[in-house]
Amino acid sequence: MINVKDVKVYFRSPRGQVKALDGVNLDIGKGEIVGLAGESGCGKSTLALGISRLILPPGKIVAGEVNFDGTDILKLEEREFREKYRWKKMSMVFQGSMNGFTPVFTIGYQIREVLKIHGYNGDHNQRTRDLLQMVELDPEIESRFPHELSGGQKQRAFIAMALALDPPFLIADEPTTALDVVTQVSIMNLLKKLRKEKGIAILLITHDLALISEIVDRVYILYAGRMAESGTASDIFINPQHPYTKGLIASIPTLKSTKIAGIEGFMPDLANLPPGCKFYPRCPYVMEVCKKDEPQLRNVRNDQVAACWLY
Ligand code: SF4
Repeated sequence: MINVKDVKVYFRSPRGQVKALDGVNLDIGKGEIVGLAGESGCGKSTLALGISRLILPPGKIVAGEVNFDGTDILKLEEREFREKYRWKKMSMVFQGSMNGFTPVFTIGYQIREVLKIHGYNGDHNQRTRDLLQMVELDPEIESRFPHELSGGQKQRAFIAMALALDPPFLIADEPTTALDVVTQVSIMNLLKKLRKEKGIAILLITHDLALISEIVDRVYILYAGRMAESGTASDIFINPQHPYTKGLIASIPTLKSTKIAGIEGFMPDLANLPPGCKFYPRCPYVMEVCKKDEPQLRNVRNDQVAACWLY
């Protein structure tokens, strides 16, 4: 359904060119939940914005394709993309979007506005109530103002709004940020239910691998604007191959251990990247070749690919 091919997104900055994404590939099939994980600043949200054509100056998509059912949506005129794709075929729940509701209008009013602006043909009142029910909210919530809802309720209402036009593809960027653990799990269960009942494909972006481990089919690990590894959820969680992925998995707290392992050091400055493998200053397995030549993604195990000179 979605095929991201060799996408590069660069930003101009006083410190020089920032290569936020440098040749990223990613595939999402119909009805699939795909996780995109990595540390803050690795390019996850930039990729989501790139797929949604929402990169603004000083940023620019300088190369690559985003194919949606075979159409490169980066090549479409803005108007055609807005009329045929945005909200109708793909929608996005942004980081902190639950705070994006206008405080002076009711939840129902704001959902009906989306239906009106995008030309929904059916009964707007009924559709609003159905959408709220779909995300397991009491339809009576439509008459409430955002400040009358809990964080979890607001996030559900925002997901309902994102699904107003029945898109087959949803991007959820850190949809549980600032929510308590119980609510985080309930939002994950909701996404799982939406996939099962409506067949929606979801790109789930997170820095919290533990949270997504039970709902994603496949996982992509991004580091410094490059794909470090990808594979099925069980491959990545049980047999991570790339040293960075191993570090991320080891950082997940468990009930059995009182120690949390971390990854030494920090992600490099994207305006001043080291030569060779971008992870080498932090990698416990670093070799001479890693400091000079950048490894390319290669098949390392079953359908698992990794960019690392160890393979
Ligand atoms: Fe580590 Fe080298 Fe692999 Fe990079 S290429 S992750 S430095 S072993």
